Amino acid sequence: MPLMKRKNPEEKPDSQTKAGSEKPYKGCLFIVSAPSGAGKSTICRAAQKKFPDISYSISFTTRPPRAGEKEGVDYFFISPSDFEHRIQQGEWAEWAKVHGHYYGTSAEFLNQQLSAGRRILLDIDIVGAEQILKRFPDSVTIFIMPPSLDALRQRLQKRGTDDAETIKKRLIHAEKEIDRKDLYRYVIVNDNLDKAIDEFCDIISRYPPA
Ligand code: 5GP
Repeated sequence: MPLMKRKNPEEKPDSQTKAGSEKPYKGCLFIVSAPSGAGKSTICRAAQKKFPDISYSISFTTRPPRAGEKEGVDYFFISPSDFEHRIQQGEWAEWAKVHGHYYGTSAEFLNQQLSAGRRILLDIDIVGAEQILKRFPDSVTIFIMPPSLDALRQRLQKRGTDDAETIKKRLIHAEKEIDRKDLYRYVIVNDNLDKAIDEFCDIISRYPPA
């Protein structure tokens, strides 16, 4: 079974970096989505180590911090009223409500990084991915799949950060996300972490195309 498939790789040339491009930006955006517990954070961390030039977009959220999460490292933790105020001010490049909490990406950060020509990694859900794709259609989209829903359930239980009700919600949400994985240019099945990291890094190393 192929672990990764590349869809229509030649159909969407990456025009973000082309000389003479009319686009007002020249960096490269990587959007990575995965059901919670699919191993996305571990894979992203490994890729950041391998490619230190990549900037990671730290999202804002109204979700309370989990044990060990740090302000400005894992997320910027803000209140729902602050988040809603920023929606009105147009401060988000994209935002979504996931499992009852707001999550958003700073438009200012993205614009700064793109105009500096940086490669940027966005860890966002599918709703956010759709919004970013509308504004930046050349974004490189990667979906990380768990080997199965059963494996995902086991990982979430082992992780021990969520109660049974939250795990149930995450699994229902995961199934919906997996149904829509065709939105993404690349799909990686994480049934072997080292292999998944290699595949992820291989994709990153191809962009922007020379
Ligand atoms: P968690 O609470 O487990 O850290 O994240 C829950 C979900 O929110 C994940 O699917 C994650 O990708 C998504 N997420 C994190 N940051 C953002 C963001 O800035 N925007 C959107 N749309 N989703 C986000």
